[in-house]
Parts: sequence; C-alpha cells; structure tokens
Amino acid sequence: MANWPIIGHEWAVDLLAKVIADDRLSHAYLFTGPAQVGKTTLARTFARAILCEKQTGEPCAVGDPDARATACRTCRRIAEGRYPDLQIIAAEKNTIQIEQVRVLQSDAALSPLEGRRKVFILREIERATAPAANALLKTLEEPPPHVILLLTSHRRDLVLPTVLSRCQIINLRPAPLTQVQAMLTARFAAEPTQAELLARLSGGRVGWAVEACLHPEVNAVRNRCLDELLALTTAGHGGRLSWAEALSHQADLIEETLGLWAAWWHDVLLVQRGAPEAIVNLDRRGQLVQQAGLYRPEQVEATLTDLMRTLQRIRANVNVRLALDVLALRLPKPIVA
Ligand SMILES: [Zn+2]
Repeated sequence: MANWPIIGHEWAVDLLAKVIADDRLSHAYLFTGPAQVGKTTLARTFARAILCEKQTGEPCAVGDPDARATACRTCRRIAEGRYPDLQIIAAEKNTIQIEQVRVLQSDAALSPLEGRRKVFILREIERATAPAANALLKTLEEPPPHVILLLTSHRRDLVLPTVLSRCQIINLRPAPLTQVQAMLTARFAAEPTQAELLARLSGGRVGWAVEACLHPEVNAVRNRCLDELLALTTAGHGGRLSWAEALSHQADLIEETLGLWAAWWHDVLLVQRGAPEAIVNLDRRGQLVQQAGLYRPEQVEATLTDLMRTLQRIRANVNVRLALDVLALRLPKPIVA
C-alpha cells in the first residue's frame, strides 16, 4: 500500500497513488462520504502527492521535524500553507459564491508559478449557489491542461448531476474503529478509555475523532445535546416545542444533534437486547442502563424510526421547524416517570 499519512481509505489511497505514478490524472475528482470522514484531508494529501517534486505517487513525509528535513521544498511549503499553486476554496457566509469561482477561473487561466500543475480544492461543493455551480461547470468542461480540481461533498444528492458526471468520484466510508482508536493513542497520546470512547462516538469519521480529541468542547456539545434529550423526555408540550424552535434556527447543529440522539437510542436498545458491550456512549453506561428500564423496546424502535424520517425530511427541504416539532412531540415519555 502507498505510504500516505491517511487513516483508513486504503483503497482510495492506492488508487490515487497509482493514478499519479502512471501519469493518468483526471482533471476533476469529487470526494464524497459522511461529514468529517476525512475527505478534505485526503484531498489535501492527494494534492501534495500530485505536486510533490519527487513524483513517486507518495507525498514527502512532513509530520515531524526530522522527516521534514528530507522533504522536497514543495511538500514543505504546502504543509506550511504557503504554496501558490494549491488553493483551497470554502463557503463564505454558508455558500460558495460566483465571485469565488470567478477568482478561481482567472487564477486557473494562468500557468503554474512553480511546478507543472495547479490544484484547487473546493470544499462542500453542495454549498455553491446556482450561478457559482454553473460557472464552475465551464471550468469542469474545458479545464486548462495544467489544472486539477478536487471537490468535496457530504451531500452528493445536492450536487448538480452535470458536475457529478464530469468528476471521478471517490466515495469514502468510515474507517474501522480499531484504526481510529489506535491513531488517537499513537498520534495524539489519548488515554486508552478516551481513545475508545472517541473512536466509537466518531463512528469511524476520522476528522471528527481528531477534532474531538484536540478540542474538549466537541464532547461538551455532545454532552449538552444528550442532557437536553433526557430533559425533553420528561418535558411537556411547551418545553418540547421551544426546543424545536431553538434548534430550527441552528441549521449547522441539526444533523449532528439528530445523529447523537439516534446513537443514544440505539445504545438504549442494545442494552435492552442484552448487548451492552456494543454501545457507543461508553462514558454514560450507567445512565443507559437506567434509561433502558424506563421504556419499552417498541417505543425506542419507534423513536429511532422517527429520527431517521426527520433527517430525511429535513434533507428533502421540508419545513424544518415543522419536522422538529413533530419529532419533539413524538419523543417517548418514560413508562415510570
Ligand atoms: Zn515532496
């Protein structure tokens, strides 16, 4: 296997390394997969392997000072974020705007300043406005020969079919939990319990695991979401509806919140079914056991179905507030309150 600093996604790394080694690069790639699964990290590493002066299909190692000393100048400068022929474009004010695509296009029209190629990474391409996506389409149809576009999206369903059809699609799946756990211990010196908890919570999304390991507030947000959920099960109509209203105004939090809730109820069901060793929320084992005694398994199953339906409805652009109202009102009440 090619030696890229990437956790999981071995097949993708092998494929991309081979494409470079064989000099068969396409002009556009789209990395899809769940949020924080590692799409941008892989795109950046791919970009480095493309631009690396050694052209072996592997980027130079730049992880520690010793390795960096033998790395080529290009890989070193990319790692430092100051290489002119690699640009990363992300949403501004929640959307990728046509002005950003126009800047990309005028930059793309010029020859590379340093090497043979210019690489542009466009993150979360589903956030492109319609004019921006249409403008980008022109570049995807007739890219300057030295240009490579690397797009990412966790919502492939929202990407224009005309954009999809012009990209090589690399669909990333979550990494095995044991790999994530080992990585947290080895690279980030996480305590074994912490590494196991974060690996399970991540569901194999490497980016999420690293983020949670480095920033304790990620876990604090999770704890707040779960505490809210528990409070809501014993709340009346009013409390449930005001929660729905508050969340409906925080578009960025909705999917994460519903995902955490789904994992929670799934854990409750695992305890009820006598498989507590498989739970995700390891640090709340006692609470899960207690909750498992408060509901019938059918109630928990119905709630899981409700959560999945709510996610689908929100993704299908229904009235978010209404979908959350329905969900909140249908949350089960404990049998023994
Ligand atoms: Zn290099």
